[in-house]
Amino acid sequence: MNLNPTLWIGGKAVQGAGSFAVTNPADLSTIAQAPKASAAQLDEAVEAARAVFPAWSGLPWAERQKLMRALADAVEANTDELARLLCLEQGKPLKGFAGMGAGFEIGGTLAWMRSTAELALPPETVQQDEAVSIEVHRKPIGVVGSITPWNYPLMIAIWHVIPAMLAGNTVVLKPSEQTPLTTLRFAELANAILPPGVLNVLSGAGELGAWMSAHEGIDKIVFTGSTPTGQAIMRSAAGNLKRLTLELGGNDAAIVLDDVDVEAAAGKIFATAFINNGQTCAALKRLYVQDGVYDALCEALAGIARSVKTGNGLAEDTDFGPLQNERQLKIVEELVNDARARGARILCGGERTDTSGHFYPITLVADIEDGAPLVDREQFGPVLPIIRFSDVEDALRRANASENGLGGSIWSRDIERAEALAARLECGTAWVNHHAVIQPNAPFGGVKGSGFGVEFASAGLQEFTTIQTRYVYRNP
Ligand code: NDP
Repeated sequence: MNLNPTLWIGGKAVQGAGSFAVTNPADLSTIAQAPKASAAQLDEAVEAARAVFPAWSGLPWAERQKLMRALADAVEANTDELARLLCLEQGKPLKGFAGMGAGFEIGGTLAWMRSTAELALPPETVQQDEAVSIEVHRKPIGVVGSITPWNYPLMIAIWHVIPAMLAGNTVVLKPSEQTPLTTLRFAELANAILPPGVLNVLSGAGELGAWMSAHEGIDKIVFTGSTPTGQAIMRSAAGNLKRLTLELGGNDAAIVLDDVDVEAAAGKIFATAFINNGQTCAALKRLYVQDGVYDALCEALAGIARSVKTGNGLAEDTDFGPLQNERQLKIVEELVNDARARGARILCGGERTDTSGHFYPITLVADIEDGAPLVDREQFGPVLPIIRFSDVEDALRRANASENGLGGSIWSRDIERAEALAARLECGTAWVNHHAVIQPNAPFGGVKGSGFGVEFASAGLQEFTTIQTRYVYRNP
């Protein structure tokens, strides 16, 4: 296991100008010192990425595909080590509830790498006749800056960098300062395979992200994180008109109609609300339940909650780990305390019992209304507000009365009606009888405050390109 991480600039391992401690959220111990890049090191990384861009973008598509496949093989060969690093720095269990821990993140990482590697962007013929041929070609943008979050450090890095590199761009990747270690280890594996300078990876804390979004040598930023930081990136990207893909927070609503099979729905609702301890952009975060099944669904969810265990993710029987960081823990605590003070009913959890790490128990909060911060704000943690409704139109209005628009779902046995309601949700992904399910072959992205641009599949790959339309007249 690599506990002496370095920066990766121009294909070389480089010591940071400084360092910062990376904390294990399960026991608050220091796992390692991560390298802190300086502004000069960012310049070097951008220069290295620019220098190799002509050669990399000039490679045949099939050559880059081969290298992307080789990267997937390298990740697969190091699955156990990467999963353990994820567990240590992120907190997620190795196995976890329904097998959705670190192993699940590695599995997702491989699925996205392999699926994305098979994509292509052939030119599109608009017109072809004796006089002229008109074709739309896709060209790489240049140097892509990728800024990734702490909830799925490896998988989201892959979502950013594989399509960027496949399309012919070169990359400067910055992992979250909370979780840099898995990404730096991936950088080491990748730099043994890729030409020097194609994938530069810099960790830092405090300023590096802002330096990247203002850097004139970076042509595009892809960012996953909060809406305010997305807004800051947009402002500083204006200097050289950087292209942007912003996948920002969500506050996804689910609307459960009273014809559902409560037991079956409860299992899926629990799993998709508490996936990664709720620290998932498209987790189910507001649960609207119709009168007829409200009490039964609350009881079914509480039954599941009582059967799960929160603890250190290294233990075999741990379902949920700690929150990744203290700031997120405080947000969750404050939202639940506020809900309690408003008279909401805490069905389970709601109090910390283990303070040896950033632990917070799975918490269900019933009899709460819109207007409470727990409903209106993204909790990004293991707590779910359950809101009662009678009239479906009213529930739809409340679900859409959010600044966010990442995902949403309708739950009913009446599929036709459910799909018609799902179509009226103001969000980038809508599910019927499920939530938070994503696949590499289907585009994913937000509307409203949840950002713009999509990731995955051909539409996601296109985001790492610009269009060149070519008119070729046969006669000069
Ligand atoms: P943020 O979303 O605020 O992102 C922090 C990252 O952004 C760091 O890497 C930081 O780099 C970088 N950054 C900060 N300012 C700028 C800038 N001006 N330009 C470019 N990059 C910048 O993360 P938080 O941890 O603060 O999370 C806050 C909330 O975001 C959470 O509570 C949650 O609601 C949401 N979130 C959403 C995620 C998602 O998947 N959509 C994932 C994680 C969090 P540096 O340290 O170098 O400044």
